[in-house]
Amino acid sequence: MRNGAHVAVVDPGDAAPVFAWLDANDVALSAIIATHHHADHVGGVPALCAKFDVPVFGPARESIPNRTHALSDGDHIVVPGIHVSFDLFDIPGHTAGHIAYYTTGDDPLLFCGDTLFAAGCGRIFEGTPPQMWASLAKLAALPAATRVYCGHEYTLANLAFAQAVEPDNDAIRARIARERAKRDHDAPTLPSTIGDEHATNPFLRAGLASVMSSAAAHARRPMENVIDSFATLRQWKNEFR
Ligand SMILES: [Zn+2]
Repeated sequence: MRNGAHVAVVDPGDAAPVFAWLDANDVALSAIIATHHHADHVGGVPALCAKFDVPVFGPARESIPNRTHALSDGDHIVVPGIHVSFDLFDIPGHTAGHIAYYTTGDDPLLFCGDTLFAAGCGRIFEGTPPQMWASLAKLAALPAATRVYCGHEYTLANLAFAQAVEPDNDAIRARIARERAKRDHDAPTLPSTIGDEHATNPFLRAGLASVMSSAAAHARRPMENVIDSFATLRQWKNEFR
């Protein structure tokens, strides 16, 4: 995120591309923001902090290198330099202490790490399906125009799975064409929006009749409730090729 000469970096798994970008744009780093403790999100923090004396915002319940501000649900921060304010949510499931950063205002932004992906969601490493479902529901309740910056460019692979779950969903078909065109031009598919996710993300749609019947067909048994459907989809995706 940039505001004039000030830049904040979110989830720097590797310091080298951050240094290269700062050099190319002739700006200094003002802050580091972390969503969870995985190395591909915080691996670059020590090297960045060795060069720049900046605050490191991160989840209170996880071990984050060089952390200066320990954050949890309900906290509110203003990032120095870029002057953007965020509300903090706890979104456990992928990791136990995972947090999300959300800006309120006319142009809302969400940094949600590895919890909500474009057309997908993260694996459940340190939580349970009900926890992950509750975390996703929290994010799904944000305004439809919210721009979603997730941790990885997995969009096309996620959409292939979405289409397997809902072969008759026209929004998924249209999104595949749209996102493929971006990748063909080497452009990122991100950010997504909460509105796009409601229309195409099978994990947010786990409670819909069409998705539940697809999950039931895959599991060869009826779905008991939305959590059952969500957990079945997550397991199905783990095995999907
Ligand atoms: Zn992760």
